[in-house]
Amino acid sequence: MKKTAIFPGSFDPITIGHESIIKRALPLFDELYVAIGINIEKKDFFPIDQRVEWIKKVFKDYQQVKVLKYEGLTVDLCKKLNAGYILRGLRTSADFEFERSIGQINKKLYPEIETMFLLTSTEHTPLNSSMVRDILRHGGDASQFVPQEVDLSAYFKKQIR
Ligand code: ADP
Repeated sequence: MKKTAIFPGSFDPITIGHESIIKRALPLFDELYVAIGINIEKKDFFPIDQRVEWIKKVFKDYQQVKVLKYEGLTVDLCKKLNAGYILRGLRTSADFEFERSIGQINKKLYPEIETMFLLTSTEHTPLNSSMVRDILRHGGDASQFVPQEVDLSAYFKKQIR
């Protein structure tokens, strides 16, 4: 049976930490859906279609990687796509505690699902999307923290004007 995984998140924006987890997971799965959750309680920084476009651009040469946006429960998306695995990255013990409860609840909701964790590469441990957003909000250059295909310059200029 085809091994399909979902990598859910906000990706607001995708960082080199996300990019690294996705690339390292590719040998483990036949296909990997990067799934951008539409969360009505969270205020987006980058428009969702921009986030989809950036991730597609980063993985344009990787046929295994597909990008989509979704609303609702991640386990419902897994059922819809016939995906047996949820992929998550672990940076710190705080990530672990957060992920543990979500992973265990997802397993209760959908016993066929397995959540798989990859430890973050050392150099990406302090990085998260909210830091990138903070740097941009204050007029800084965050380009070293995002994949080279992600052009933040329009947003960077907007912030310093
Ligand atoms: P969420 O909105 O669920 O916090 P994110 O978009 O921040 O999602 O992250 C999605 C996934 O990527 C999570 O599993 C998170 O742990 C992982 N991740 C985030 N930043 C990094 C990083 N710097 N290195 C590795 N994994 C990361």
